[in-house]
Amino acid sequence: MSARRIALLAALAALLARPAAALPQLDLDVRLDPTTRAFAATARLADDRPLAGFALAPGFEITALTVDGRPARVEATTRDGRRWLRLPAGAQRAEIAYRATLAPLRTLDHRQVLQARAPTADADGSFLPAASGWYPDPGGLFSYRVALALPAGQKGLTPGELVAERDDADGYRAEFRFPQPADGIDLMAGPYVVGERALTLAEGRTIRLRTWFHRELAELAAGYLDDSARYVERYDRLIGDYPFALFSVVSSPTPTGFGMPSLTYLGRDVLRLPFIRATSLGHEVLHNWWGNGVYPDWARGNWSEGLTTFLADYAYKEDEGEAAALDMRLGWLRDLAAVTPENDGALRDFTSRRHGISSIVGYNKAAMLFLMLRDEIGLEAFARGLRRFWREHRFRVAGWRELEAAFAHEAGRPLRDFFRQWVERAGAPSVRLAAAERRGEALAVTLAQTGDYALNVPLRLVFADRVETRRVPLAGARETILLPGAGAAQAVELDPDYRLWRRVDAAALPAILRETFVAPRATLQFVDDDPALQAAARSLAARLLESGARRAADAAPRLIVGSAPAVDAWLAARGLPPRPAAASGRGTAQAWAGRDASGTPYAVVSGQDAAALRALERGLPHYGRQSWIVFDGGRAADRGVWPPRVERLDVGGAVPR
Ligand SMILES: [Zn+2]
Repeated sequence: MSARRIALLAALAALLARPAAALPQLDLDVRLDPTTRAFAATARLADDRPLAGFALAPGFEITALTVDGRPARVEATTRDGRRWLRLPAGAQRAEIAYRATLAPLRTLDHRQVLQARAPTADADGSFLPAASGWYPDPGGLFSYRVALALPAGQKGLTPGELVAERDDADGYRAEFRFPQPADGIDLMAGPYVVGERALTLAEGRTIRLRTWFHRELAELAAGYLDDSARYVERYDRLIGDYPFALFSVVSSPTPTGFGMPSLTYLGRDVLRLPFIRATSLGHEVLHNWWGNGVYPDWARGNWSEGLTTFLADYAYKEDEGEAAALDMRLGWLRDLAAVTPENDGALRDFTSRRHGISSIVGYNKAAMLFLMLRDEIGLEAFARGLRRFWREHRFRVAGWRELEAAFAHEAGRPLRDFFRQWVERAGAPSVRLAAAERRGEALAVTLAQTGDYALNVPLRLVFADRVETRRVPLAGARETILLPGAGAAQAVELDPDYRLWRRVDAAALPAILRETFVAPRATLQFVDDDPALQAAARSLAARLLESGARRAADAAPRLIVGSAPAVDAWLAARGLPPRPAAASGRGTAQAWAGRDASGTPYAVVSGQDAAALRALERGLPHYGRQSWIVFDGGRAADRGVWPPRVERLDVGGAVPR
């Protein structure tokens, strides 16, 4: 959900080394009338060092300008693709009065909002993104204060601390301060109803939680405040002090999802989705530590999405149980299996969420890196490493090397090789069980890998009466490892819980519906003669198949749709496995995924009648990552992923060496 702002931090590490008091200070008095879209502001810019100038978007007209108390002229040039107004040499203070008529709100999807850099105003919601250049930007990091004036009925905010607020017939006045180093200012306003709660944190400090919602969302406010409190407390305990005095959830008239310091700005329709509170809200809360609290070193790789994914999205799966967590890890490895090795870049080259492949590396590989690191150094050292990293780098730029240093310090050993191979190196190993044989009291296991990674491979030893997991080191291309006291094991399984970032043969991963849904040559297979069922099948296939609803052809992934008895008969006639137990005798419709003897995926949808099939059109397309699902009408009643096929060798029954 998060669209991280691309900061221009490459040159800013040096600036950050300056104490906070030496940051340029920007003071803004802003008046905005969302109905007429009239915007007017006065900005005061001050720095201990000479001010070279400031950037301001061309749409803003400067009506008055003084430099060090005297009227002055500026020279307009271009810097980094932005309009740059150069101040006279030696300037230390500038006061700029400027104005504009902002653009009207358009109906935009999230991608368009990300690309649209113009500030927009509307009675239903105004958004002035930092990247739109709506304030005089001295470049680099700065501190700011914004005093905001809006007409009655409107409220608004920027990131930071709310230090004053008044709302009466004359309108809305609020003042926000951001004393930490900021790299931009986003401003939002709308016809908001504000919900508020105080939250006292473990360290005894009380902060405010707020919802700024459109009126029709008011009944969701209490739930959002509850969950925001839960997430802020969770991460405050896990990592260290929540860095701000306020956390807000703000509703947007467009379908956006942004995380900013001290707030998240989410589309009003997005806020209604149940999974937002369960997952995305926590992810955005956590960005107050990772991303907006410690700034990623953009030039050397963005670690913040991976760490946020690991401690939010993935952690919530662990809370649910090991089965849910395993599903997520399998999902990551499945995505990796679909990336060709030449497209599989290094983590240090991931700088933002640009496209699908970079997100597989930037989010999933990085999240798995933190899981492997925690497995490697243990829970305690990992938790202390997180806290140390936060303590040492809050409101500073930090990269993978600083993360490595914090964890290595707490683990009491160097982690250079670990970070080098997972961060700096592109690609992933594939690992194989080559042999397992008894040698007296011990078990000799031979492992092989492509790519000479230093791995700690989890092996599950299956005994007659128990199982036992051991981790064994593997560094070479092929090594035989002696496991003392394991001679009685009957079988060995390689990384059965999928805790290593590795290339897995896609055929070993459980079949899921999506394999057929997205297959370029996927076709529709009717199993009924009844025209009503065929019409329902065609209509459903049009929703499910990216290839469109072509009729069945040989050797192509098939979507098999029809009435339950006809589906069962069709599968039996072709020698395909029968309806699985999970999808038997339950609900009004069922779907499941499989692969035939040649490995070609297929998906089956069966319903009690044409209406039951039509009821799936809205919901089923969203469940492509499931192996099976049962629907009651349009509601998903139960679902799951088949267990993965674990690589297993019987002891003694070894592959010839
Ligand atoms: Zn994120």
